[in-house]
Amino acid sequence: MIPEDFPEDIQPHLIPQAKGELIYRCLGCGSEFGIEKLLYTCPDCGEVLLIYDKHSERLRQISGALWRRIFDYRKMLKIPALKGIYRYHEFIGTVIPLSSVVWLGEGHTPMVEANAFMQDKANIRFFFKNDGQNPSASFKDRGMASAMSYIRFLIEKGYASEILAICASTGDTSAAAALYASYLPNIKSAVLLPHKKVTPQQLSQPLGSGAKVFEIPGVFDDCMKVVESLADTYNVALLNSKNAWRILGQESYSYEIAQDFDYDMSNKVVVVPIGNAGNITAVMSGFLKFYDTGIITELPKIIGVQSHHANPVYLYYQQDAGRRKFEPVTVKPSTAQAAMIGNPVSMPRVIHLADEYNKKAGKQRVFVVEVTEQEIMDWQLTANRNGHIACTHGGESLAGLVNAVNTGFVNQDETAVVDSTAHALKFAGFQEMYFENRFPPEFEVSPRPELMNAPTLVRPKDLTHVPAPGKPLDGEEFQQFVKRTSEEIASALALTRR
Ligand SMILES: *Cc1c(COP(=O)(O)O)cnc(C)c1O
Ligand SMILES: [Zn+2]
Repeated sequence: MIPEDFPEDIQPHLIPQAKGELIYRCLGCGSEFGIEKLLYTCPDCGEVLLIYDKHSERLRQISGALWRRIFDYRKMLKIPALKGIYRYHEFIGTVIPLSSVVWLGEGHTPMVEANAFMQDKANIRFFFKNDGQNPSASFKDRGMASAMSYIRFLIEKGYASEILAICASTGDTSAAAALYASYLPNIKSAVLLPHKKVTPQQLSQPLGSGAKVFEIPGVFDDCMKVVESLADTYNVALLNSKNAWRILGQESYSYEIAQDFDYDMSNKVVVVPIGNAGNITAVMSGFLKFYDTGIITELPKIIGVQSHHANPVYLYYQQDAGRRKFEPVTVKPSTAQAAMIGNPVSMPRVIHLADEYNKKAGKQRVFVVEVTEQEIMDWQLTANRNGHIACTHGGESLAGLVNAVNTGFVNQDETAVVDSTAHALKFAGFQEMYFENRFPPEFEVSPRPELMNAPTLVRPKDLTHVPAPGKPLDGEEFQQFVKRTSEEIASALALTRR
């Protein structure tokens, strides 16, 4: 629909203008800083930052009901800059002009309801939100679209010129960073990956986008230290989720869920895996902003999920409130490899926001559960045998939901949205290890026969010749090949003649 055709009360709000004032606020000392410079941590005390709208009360001058209509009408626009996360411009990057927005097709991923069999098995109604359907096949595109639009804005404002964007990654951040950087002429990218700790598909992504790729010994936590040292010492733009612009973009995940439920968040549960904890930070922050503005009137439950092989956040919340102390853990191999992090960068943000979330809701609404590697694989494979495209982290989320239902954090009359944070294909190697019973013992995964699957090679033994590339058969030999091969398949499938 073209703008002139929208209702008159919507028209002034339809196309967002760059305005307002965003600031970085330190979660440690409370200091505030302007956004003309890309900051990752507080120059005064070194803590992580979050970005705040200095005049957020301005957003409350528009009623929740009008906001809801504005977003629903924006859905009908054909303007590329408003087709992704910036449909919620005023909540994501109010100072960014639409001309700086980079949109590569991210956001508005489908929420697909699980079939009756799955809902029965999980004991609750639930949807998968398929964030693997983003352009680089993970949710990381949401935050990257925000960070790159901001960098483009800095360049266009003259605050920066050539930029070298750099990140450490468990695979998906680097795929997203390399993709978005490759679209923008003034931005080059370099990524640091833990050697042999990302999947072949994830390694192929930044290489294909033309990024400089460095493999580092150790695990992600080691890469993160190197990249932090680079960012402290050299002139580079850090794209890890320490970068608060990433968090802003990832808030779109919550806004989309709210919109997809017609903003009715009563009896809703949102389940996300936790690695570096940027995602759960953004999900809480997003719902809080919509709640504060009256766009939603209830805060959904949030369930964060960790593997028992990488569970520092879970262990933190297991301690008694009031005397919790965060301790990093040494991770063990995990099939939820993109979340295999022992010292999450966003932990202070989680602590801060979970507190605020529970306070505003007037009761505990944020829970963290732990699942086994076995449960992650079994639930992922079960989901995908029932029409989903869940990655291992999607399996982890679903296993976490089931755990939360069983422990009573979640009731059967609630409806859950389970985050499949990436596409199943990125982690196909773990499926292969399961199907071929090749998991090294440290993963602690044994395949269940009913979930295994393998291809069958059909090669009738009585045939002397079968076709080969460049060597087709013809005549009687070819007829025999077709006949005998179909017979073998029919026999394997127990087909009856018609
Ligand atoms: C990054 C990532 C996670 C973990 O998200 P955090 O923001 O680091 O907690 C989970 N799943 C996938 C597929 C990821 O790429
Ligand atoms: Zn500070």
